[in-house]
Amino acid sequence: MIEPASTPEDGQFHSVHVPGPTPSLTWAPLQPSGDRVRVRDYTCYCRPTFYELCQASDQYFIRRTRRREGAALVDECARGRHATTMAVWADLLSQSSGKRRN
Ligand SMILES: [Zn+2]
Repeated sequence: MIEPASTPEDGQFHSVHVPGPTPSLTWAPLQPSGDRVRVRDYTCYCRPTFYELCQASDQYFIRRTRRREGAALVDECARGRHATTMAVWADLLSQSSGKRRN
């Protein structure tokens, strides 16, 4: 096989692909907490940047992971109530369908 391993034609299951970066969102370093984090939804891990919708206790947030030269940079945004974070998450996913606000 000569094809790159991360194309949608590689026969693997792919989730939503979100183009990066996301200038409309404000990202902060990941806040470590004692709560167990559950990943509720996620975008495709095949991309250098992918996103996870996370829940820690009664708080929700979006975690962004950027892979750069073997390192993973992780930060978060939209920490808060379910409705607030879901609105941001929906906005993020909407970028995957080509709807851009330029
Ligand atoms: Zn993919």
